[in-house]
This record gives sequence, C-alpha cells and structure tokens, in this order.
Amino acid sequence: MSHNLRSGLYETSPLYQNAVMDLEMAGKTMGLSSNVLDRLKMPKKAMCVSIPVRMDDGSVKTFEGYRVQHSTTLGPGKGGIRFHPEVNLSEVSALAMLMTMKCSLVGLPLGGAKGGIRVDPSQLSRAEQQALTRRFTMEIISMIGPEQDIPAPDVGTDGQHMAWMMDTYSMAKGHAVPGVVTGKPMEIGGSAGRPESTGRGVVYVIEHAIELLKKQNKADFKLNQCTAAVHGFGKVGTVAADELAMRGCKVVAVSDFFGGIYDKNGLDLKDVNAYMSKNRTLKGYPKAEAITNEQLIGLNVDILVPAAIDGVITRENMKNVKAKIISEGANGPITSEAQQYLESQGVYIIPDILANAGGVIVSYFEWVQGLQQFFWNEKEVNEKLAEIMARAFHRVAGNAEKFNCGMKTAALITSVERLSQAMLLRGLFP
Ligand code: GLU
Repeated sequence: MSHNLRSGLYETSPLYQNAVMDLEMAGKTMGLSSNVLDRLKMPKKAMCVSIPVRMDDGSVKTFEGYRVQHSTTLGPGKGGIRFHPEVNLSEVSALAMLMTMKCSLVGLPLGGAKGGIRVDPSQLSRAEQQALTRRFTMEIISMIGPEQDIPAPDVGTDGQHMAWMMDTYSMAKGHAVPGVVTGKPMEIGGSAGRPESTGRGVVYVIEHAIELLKKQNKADFKLNQCTAAVHGFGKVGTVAADELAMRGCKVVAVSDFFGGIYDKNGLDLKDVNAYMSKNRTLKGYPKAEAITNEQLIGLNVDILVPAAIDGVITRENMKNVKAKIISEGANGPITSEAQQYLESQGVYIIPDILANAGGVIVSYFEWVQGLQQFFWNEKEVNEKLAEIMARAFHRVAGNAEKFNCGMKTAALITSVERLSQAMLLRGLFP
C-alpha cells in the first residue's frame, strides 16, 4: 500500500482537502522534501470527546467535541474553539493546520491547534453554554495548558467562553491559570485590543496591498476612493468594516447569516451597528436595500472581505466576483479552485493565514503580557500588531515575486520555510 493512502478520518471535509491541496502546491513550488510535506498533512494529535449537558428543562443532551493539535514544533499548540453545527474532526483538523501555518508565517513561537463543539450556540441558554464549555474543558484538560496548548475564541465563542474555560482549568489546578486561554476579558488578564485585532489586521494588509500594487505599477487604488463589501458582520467583519470606513473607504454592503444590506452611497455603520446590537441580525434593517449573501459576493466593489466562514467562494459563484482585492477575514472562505481561477483573472487575494493573523498575534501578546504580569495599552498593542503584520505581508509578497506565484502559495511557502527548518533542527524522535 502506498504510504500516501490515508485512513481517511481527517480527510472527509472540503476544508481539509483544500488545505492539503494548497500545501501540496506550495510544496511543489518551493521544492519541499516529501518527508516534511507528508508530516504536515496530518495532525500530531486529536481528541474526540462527548459532552453531556443538563439542559434547562432537566433533560440531558450529549454533544460532540474535539481538540486537535496539528503541530507543536515551534511551541505550544494555539488556536480557537469553534461552536458551530457543522463542526467535525476533519474540519477542526484543517483549521488546526491553518493555525500552524499562520503562527509560523508571522513568526510566533507557537504551534497550531483548534477545537470545536458540534452545536448551534444560538439554541442554547447562557447556563447551558456555560455547562457545555466547562464540561468540554474538563474533558480535554490533559491536552491544554499554558505550555501545552492554548485555546482562544473562534466562530460562535467569545471572551465569556474563555473566562469559563480559564475558571474551570484553574479550579482543577487549585490556582488561577490565566495563561491557559487567550481572548479573555481584560478583567481576568485579557489584552487591550484583542477583540478588534483580527478585523484591524484584515485592513492593515489591504493598505499594504494597495501600496504594493501601486509600487509595482499594477494598479492605483486609493483606499478613500474605494468601495467595499463585507461578508459576515460578526467579530471580524464589524471591525473590518469600521476600519475601512475610518480610512474613507465606502462600505456599501454587509451581511450576516440571513442576508445582507446594500446602499450604493455607503452604509451608515454606526446606525447599522446599533441596529445589529439591538436586533442581533441585520434582517429588517430599514435604511438600506436587502440583498442575499450571493448578491453581496457578486457586487461591483473594489474590495471584498469574506469574514464569516469557510467555503463561501467556490466554483459555483467564483465567476460572479467583481472585486479586485479580497482580504480573507475568515479561515478558508475561498476554495483552492476558486482561488486559482480568481488569481488567473488578476484578483489580488490576501490569504487567510496572513489576512486574519491579527487575532492570534494579539493572543500571543496576551499570553506574553500574562506571563510577565505587565500589561500594554491599546496603542502599544496596535503598533506592535501593525509592525508584525507589515513584516509578514512583505515577506509573503517577496516570496510571491521570488517564486512567481500567488499570495496564497507564497504565504504557505513563507510558513513552511520556517517550520521545516525547525523540524529538521529538532530532528525525528526517536
Ligand atoms: N480563532 C482565531 C484564528 O482562527 C484566533 C486563534 C487564537 O487567537 O489563538 O486565528
């Protein structure tokens, strides 16, 4: 049997298949040894747990949960915990792989991991979510820790979930262990600027892309004359939209799970945010035209920010895309096939592991600040974030030129260059 044939357990999701395809493409372009490539295709360790929860009505419901460490070569595992009804082992493994690549790309001393529970959190009360989070933490406790593997928020989770995880872990250890998670509220050791960090980073790299395209005489965009559409008006999309608007860019459309809203003159984001906080959805927003998510993807805008979930731009709708720059706020929003097509059409795609790395960068700052018990203000955090994002962007752009490839492949090459050196230096045990 060829050793390329795998058990299939990890490979069932399109996200995983895409991640492996992208990795193979990068490996081929950079001439990576197949020993290293093979190791990177499979996670180091995965744990599947069942999580029984006493619901408010007295019944017990059991949920499926996962924690996957893709690589710990560069340091402790790092990556979020996702609450979503589609979560499965394969998807979490793919997301863990993306975390390895992301941390390596931006030069953090961290590996890659991810966790998730197959649940629709909007159907659970606060008490039920707390019970779910605490029992899950207890089930995976042997895998996590400040030196081992450090969870953070992801789709469907936020600072409150991290506070419950930190408390559960600390109760088990007998003392407060804030370093076990990042993305915590500031009152218990969170970092200034962490909630906004991913959305900010998404826009920092758009600015770098515009500058570079001008320098290379490929295009001359002025951000304050551009239009933008943001798919996914959540933790990342709301901040990205605000940051774009702050720079004079006209944000003409945003959307959530139920659909989008459009105003060709630019949305009043303050008003949209107020409506969203009150109604928990954009649906019914009275001061703009209602559109579907598919219409948003196909809008005639300069900049598109897919910031919701994976697999949004695929072979089905790639030909509708009219944006010239795409900054991937979500993980894996464009399939490999769609990415290759769009790049062949001259669309400048800033890939997820670069574009949305702001979150894990400030998570790293939070971890470092916690270890030193010395905290920075938001301005210091943002400056350090901007510096790391700029350096990473230019390293990726440099590799795109050197290897004559798109930014996605270049980003993976940049990650794998660092990671493979570390793997070779550490050697193979035993
Ligand atoms: N969930 C975020 C991501 O996908 C952040 C992970 C972290 O901060 O550890 O990058």
